[in-house]
Amino acid sequence: MAPIAKQYDFIVIGGGSGGSGAARRASGWYGAKTLLVENNRSGGTCVNVGCVPKKQTWNFASVAELLKDGVHYGYDIPKDIKFNFAEFKKKRDENIKGLNAAYERNWNRENIDLVKGTATFKSQREIEVATQGGENLLYSAPHILIATGGYPIIPQGIPGSDLGITSDGFFDIEDLPKKMAFVGAGYIAVELAGVMNAIGVETHMYIRGNTFLRNFDPMVQETLTQRYIDAGVIIHKNHKGFKEVVRLREGKGEEKLLKLIGNDGEESEVNELLWAIGRAPEIKALDPAKIRVKQGPKGHIVVDEYQNTNIDGVYALGDVTGQAELTPVAIAAGRALGNRLFGTHHPSGGPHLSTSKLDYSNIPTVVFAHPEVGTIGMTEPAAVSKFGKENIKIYHTKFTPMFYTFHPAEEKKLQPTEYKLICEGKEEKIVGMHILGAASGEMMQGFGVAVKMGARKRDFDACVAIHPTSAEELVTMK
Ligand code: FAD
Ligand code: NDP
Repeated sequence: MAPIAKQYDFIVIGGGSGGSGAARRASGWYGAKTLLVENNRSGGTCVNVGCVPKKQTWNFASVAELLKDGVHYGYDIPKDIKFNFAEFKKKRDENIKGLNAAYERNWNRENIDLVKGTATFKSQREIEVATQGGENLLYSAPHILIATGGYPIIPQGIPGSDLGITSDGFFDIEDLPKKMAFVGAGYIAVELAGVMNAIGVETHMYIRGNTFLRNFDPMVQETLTQRYIDAGVIIHKNHKGFKEVVRLREGKGEEKLLKLIGNDGEESEVNELLWAIGRAPEIKALDPAKIRVKQGPKGHIVVDEYQNTNIDGVYALGDVTGQAELTPVAIAAGRALGNRLFGTHHPSGGPHLSTSKLDYSNIPTVVFAHPEVGTIGMTEPAAVSKFGKENIKIYHTKFTPMFYTFHPAEEKKLQPTEYKLICEGKEEKIVGMHILGAASGEMMQGFGVAVKMGARKRDFDACVAIHPTSAEELVTMK
């Protein structure tokens, strides 16, 4: 006799940002009988190998930068301050273990059943879970959510490419390499290379173009790439890629030694190599193709604006869909789906539940670079192409913040601060905002609210400046 599947109202596959958001909304708010399947550490990418340890490591690097600044204020700070990266890593790991437990406590409190194991589709309404305890269990539900996230890509076809690490392996580093290579030009390469450079690792970035962050406004690309060069990052522009990676010495930190052989024949030796060339959807074990879920050219699950796949009762959100791969996006999409599927009442008011969905327009985002970069809306080229050059007005400013008053000139140039507003039409509606400089991450959240509400330039001007800040420049631009 075939085993009987345990019945739920809602099955969520993946206990990361999006899956957790959806499950908690469905069960915690609306009492839907919910199963969450997770085959790794609770909390997903963001908590374990993403936002959280990344920001903590960025904070670690920021301390190093601040100590250097202190000298210019008269602090007697030795040039060669010792630090213990392994000790910091230990604390970071402990903190994350605490977060894993907090996720599980929240799920438990909200009556979500957690099963630790790998889910595979059996049919459109049924999954099988190979549990970590070695059992195969069947579950079924009328609503199944795919929130399985993604994984970092290691290039295929380059012998020895797997001798390098990805962002996942970055968080295992205890002994710092002396010299490290980063391949890629997106968020991860820029953030992790920036951290390593700030704490004294000889940092090389291999990029295919002339600048990094090529999806960002040209102001961001040009100023930040130059800032990294000024800060000592060795950027190999227009790089033609590697044809082979060879292990010269096994070990950790400075002990590990790799030879990188470029397609142009150039060879170099590094202690560590990190691939940051993008992420792919995590769908291999789940096998959505078995139930004919539609996938995009790179395997992402195709969804409509309500996170519906082409299969009735099967939904997807977060990184596995390739839509704005950010934690708050996955959480917000998950909550909106929970509202739509199970919402009976909205404890805090809010939109009509049956049409609840995430609005993907004007999502603010920050690259935790050195310095930080905040962005919302369109780049200048995108705005010009959509509205025409004659209908766009650009406000732009570049300055040195007061904090750097006492820094010598050659160090001032390490602190570019630059803002751009892109305004459309007679009303000068702000359709793009790009800010680069210290504290941009914190600033962007508030300005994001204004832009999302449809602010015009004159609304910014009508807000009295807060002096002395860098942010005041944004409400006094001419
Ligand atoms: P995930 O969080 O990846 O969760 C998916 C979960 O599904 C995983 O736990 C996985 O183990 C599980 N799973 C997969 N397949 C199965 C299966 N078959 N059965 C059971 N379980 C399965 N975003 C920001 O907003 N800010 C940042 O600062 C930021 N920094 C980042 C830094 C790095 C280095 C990286 C890699 C990402 C960063 N992100 C950041 C992006 C953010 O982490 C992701 O967008 C977010 O985690 C996506 O959430 P998700 O729920 O879609 O997937
Ligand atoms: P991205 O998609 O941001 O960038 C990947 C980069 O790799 C591209 O910019 C591309 O640059 C380059 N690239 C692609 N293929 C190759 C290749 N074969 N050789 C060399 N370079 C290549 O991916 P990431 O992995 O950096 O990050 C994934 C996502 O995670 C991000 O898009 C973001 O959504 C999220 N994230 C968010 C963060 C945040 O919010 N602060 C932090 C980290 C990640 P080019 O085309 O210019 O050559």
